Amino acid sequence: MPELPEVETIRAQLAPRLEGRTLTRVEILDPRLTRPHDLFEVAEELEGARVDAVERRGKYLVFRLESGLALLVHLRMTGSFGFAPTTHERAVVELDDGSRLAYRDVRRFGTWLVLEQADVEPYLSTKNGVEPLGSRFTVVWLASRLAERRAPLKSVLLDQRVVAGLGNIYADEALWRARLNPLRQSNTLESDEVARAHRAIRAALRAGIERQGSTLRDYSTPDGTEGSMQDEFRVYGRDGEPCSRCRTAISKTRVGGRGTWFCPRCQPLWESSC
Ligand SMILES: [Zn+2]
Repeated sequence: MPELPEVETIRAQLAPRLEGRTLTRVEILDPRLTRPHDLFEVAEELEGARVDAVERRGKYLVFRLESGLALLVHLRMTGSFGFAPTTHERAVVELDDGSRLAYRDVRRFGTWLVLEQADVEPYLSTKNGVEPLGSRFTVVWLASRLAERRAPLKSVLLDQRVVAGLGNIYADEALWRARLNPLRQSNTLESDEVARAHRAIRAALRAGIERQGSTLRDYSTPDGTEGSMQDEFRVYGRDGEPCSRCRTAISKTRVGGRGTWFCPRCQPLWESSC
């Protein structure tokens, strides 16, 4: 599933190609994309609209339109945008410069939702906490969120209302950077541990953005280039390989049903005295 770095990469590539352009023709090919709303009605609302801005909030793409409406796209498992014709197209948008933007989604869990601009932030704020790379994501804020919960640390970090945009990959990478065990009970973290987690979450996400995300299975960027973060993973998907910090073999476990990778030596469940 695309996480913050992948969605941000998509946003950064779409913005210069869409901002200021008019959507001359919009064809939605799959009723699942817009349900419970009718796909023809949604296409009609979008057609003829000029794009003011392409933004991101958590894992959502937000296309702000001059008409006063906004299109919110969540890519879920396998959604992607591309300017080259492809398979599994669920929607096609033609722009006034003659370009054709296709929305591809193999597993069809992605969603397109049109809202009035005034309803966008209230809608998104019920689903997303503060942006982890923004100024409101402070150590104090993270500490108060973690202190409220008894669940495993990783499960709490995956809650979009705690860290918007963080998913399975970057949560594992951040916990390795912070030297924190994914199964630690969230409300037992000391203040220095919260500070490490805060710093590590930002570092892991920034590393992903710098490398244009990680290319795994169905993720691709609108211009067809591939992200390279998968070459830099410290733990994710690397069970049995040596930890790059201590050479201990990376372990795999499950936390809240999600495959989870960590270094048993760098990330002990209990603090050792050494
Ligand atoms: Zn290690």
